[in-house]
Amino acid sequence: MLVRLTDTWTEILRRRASNTSTGTGAYAAPVRDVLGQLVAAATLMQSNIKFDGSLILQILGDGPLKLAVVEVQPDLALRATATVIGPVDEVATLSQMVNHSRQGRCAITLDPVAKLPGQQPYQGVVPLVDNQGQPMETVSAILEQYMRQSEQLDTTLVLAANEQIAAGLLIQRLPAQGQGSVDEHYQRISILAKSLQREELLTLDVQTILHRLFWQEQVRQFEPLQRKNAPRFACSCSRERVARMIVGLGQAEAHSILAERADIEVACDFCGLQYRFDAVDVAQLFVASMLQSPGSPVAH
Ligand SMILES: [Zn+2]
Repeated sequence: MLVRLTDTWTEILRRRASNTSTGTGAYAAPVRDVLGQLVAAATLMQSNIKFDGSLILQILGDGPLKLAVVEVQPDLALRATATVIGPVDEVATLSQMVNHSRQGRCAITLDPVAKLPGQQPYQGVVPLVDNQGQPMETVSAILEQYMRQSEQLDTTLVLAANEQIAAGLLIQRLPAQGQGSVDEHYQRISILAKSLQREELLTLDVQTILHRLFWQEQVRQFEPLQRKNAPRFACSCSRERVARMIVGLGQAEAHSILAERADIEVACDFCGLQYRFDAVDVAQLFVASMLQSPGSPVAH
C-alpha cells in the first residue's frame, strides 16, 4: 500500500504556521519530517486494518518533542499536531528529540465508533528502543517493531516527509498456513521495498516507484482512492467539546482564569481555531452542567 499526501499535509503545516495564538509558528524541519512520517504511517495503518473507529498514533517523547499525534478516522479524514517544549536543532536525530532519557514511548489507540457500556479503547504501547535496548532512529523501525510485538505481523515501512509531501509504503505479510515459500516471498518483497530511497519516495509518482522496485514481479494494481474516499484534513473540535473541558476544570479554576483576563481562550492544537468564553458564557456553562447532573457535588 502506498500513500502520497500533498494538499492534506501542506494544510496541516499551513495551519500550524499561521497559528499565532499559541505563539509556536512553523515546525522545525526535523519535527515536521517526523510528524509527516507519522501521518503517512497512520493513514496506511488505518486503510490496512479497515477499523470502524479512530486510529490514534502517538509518540510520547521525553525530549524537546513532547508529543506527536495523528488521528485518522475510518473514512481517512485526519488531523495531526506536535507539541514542542524546547529548541530543536536543525540536524537533531529522532532519539535526541523524543528519547533523550530512553523514556520515550509510541502508542497506538483504536477507539471504536460503537462502544459497549464501559468498553475502553484498545491501546498498545512500546518503548523506542530495539531488542538490544538501543534507541531507534527511524519512525519506520519503531512502527515495524510495534507491529511485530503487538500484532505479530511482519511489516515493512518506508516513510518520508518534507515541506510538501508526506509519503509512505507499507508491505505486510498476509497470514498464510503451511506454505514454506511465503516467508521467502515476503523477505524478497520487503528487501526490494527497503531499497526505496527517501528522495525517490518524495519525488516519484506511484507508477514509477512500483516499476523501479518490482519490475521483476507480477504487479496487480488497485485503483487509487479518489476524492471523498481519499485521505484529507478534517478537525473534529467544536465549541461544545471546549465547553466540556472548561466545566472539567471546575468553577474555581475557571474563575481564577477570568480574574486575570476578560475571556477564557482555547485554541485547537490541530486546526488552530480559537474558542472564546467570556464571564457570562462561563457562568452559563456551570449552571447548565449543574442542571444536567443534579447529583454531582457543587464546586466551591
Ligand atoms: Zn480543531
